[in-house]
Amino acid sequence: MKKLLAMLLAIATALCAGCARQTPKKSSERFAAMDTVMSVDVYGDSDAMRDVKEEILRLDKLLSAAEPESDVSRVNASGAATVDEAVAELAAKSLEICRDTGGALDVTILPVVEEWGFISKNYRVPGDETLAALLKNVDYSAVSVSGGSISLPKGARLDFGAVAKGYAADRAKQILDKSSSDSALLNLGGTVLAYGKKNGSQQWKVGVADPDNSATYMGMLNCEDVVVATSGSYERYFEGSDGKIYSHIIDPKTGKPVDNGILSVTVVCRDGTLCDALSTALFVMGKEKAEQYCKSKNSFDYIMLTADKKAYVTKGVADSFTLADGYDYEVVNVMDN
Ligand code: AMP
Ligand code: MG
Repeated sequence: MKKLLAMLLAIATALCAGCARQTPKKSSERFAAMDTVMSVDVYGDSDAMRDVKEEILRLDKLLSAAEPESDVSRVNASGAATVDEAVAELAAKSLEICRDTGGALDVTILPVVEEWGFISKNYRVPGDETLAALLKNVDYSAVSVSGGSISLPKGARLDFGAVAKGYAADRAKQILDKSSSDSALLNLGGTVLAYGKKNGSQQWKVGVADPDNSATYMGMLNCEDVVVATSGSYERYFEGSDGKIYSHIIDPKTGKPVDNGILSVTVVCRDGTLCDALSTALFVMGKEKAEQYCKSKNSFDYIMLTADKKAYVTKGVADSFTLADGYDYEVVNVMDN
C-alpha cells in the first residue's frame, strides 16, 4: 500500500512538473502611451515584452500630434519632412484606407477635431462657417508619401489617432513573431492583439465594452491570432449647452461628430492598422454602408452596437461572440441573407 501511494505521489509530482514546464512564465507591464493606458502580457519571453513596450513608446513619440518634436508635428509645422520608416509606412497605409473608404477615414481631420476641443479638452460647438473654412484643408488625397518623407498642402495637418494603436499592434506582432513566445495578450487601450492561444491551447476571451459603462463588458469574443479594435462614442465626448452629446468621431463630409445611432464598432481581423482604421471608418459610414463595404471586402468582421440595443454581428464572429449575463441586446446576424 505504502509503495502504491509513493508511486502515485511520484507520478503526480512528475505530471505537475510537466504542467509547470508547459505554462510559460508571464511577463506583464502596464504603461501610459498614445493617450491611454496599455497592458502587455507576454508568455515565455520577457525580452519580447520589453521590446514590445519600447517599440510602442517609440511610436508614441513619433506619432503624437501634441508632442512638438514628433515626426507628425514636424510634418504639420513645415508642410514636409523626412520621417521614420514606421511613420512613412503608417501614412502610406492609412492613405490607402482613406481612399478605399471614400474618405470616411480621413487622416487630415485634425484641424476640425481641434476646433471641437477634443485635443485641448476645452470643448465647444463651432459654427457652420468655421467648420466650412476648416474643411477646405481636410483632404487626405492631397497628402503625398514618397522616399521616406511626407508632404502636405498648405493648411493641412495630419492626425493618426484613429490608426496608431492598430499600427502599434502590427509592430508588436512582428516583434513577437521573431521572439520565442507564442502567446501574448496586448490591450492597447481598446485595441487588443490576441496573439496565439492562451496557455497554448485555449482561445483568448476579449470583452466588448458596454457603451453605457465602458468599465464593464456587454459581450465576449473568443479569438486567437487577431486584432480586435473598438471605436466608441463613449470614449470621448462632451455635452453641449444645448444638451446634445458630441462625440470625438467626426464625419469628414460635415465636420461634425457622427450622430447616426451607432454606439460602438468593434472590428476583428489579422491586420491591426486596418482593424483600427475600419472601426473608425465604419462608425462614420453608418449601419447600411458599413454592411455593404464589409460585404464587398470579405476581409474583416465586426460587431456594431446601436442605441436601439441591437448588436449587428457579421458571419465570421457570429459563433464566437456571446452576450454577457444581464445584457438584452438583440443580436442581429448581418450578411446572412
Ligand atoms: P478611434 O478611437 O480609433 O475611432 O479614433 C478616433 C480618433 O481619431 C479621434 O479622437 C480623432 O482624433 C480622430 N478622428 C475622428 N474622426 C476621424 C475620421 N473620420 N477619420 C480619421 N480620424 C478621425
Ligand atoms: Mg480606429
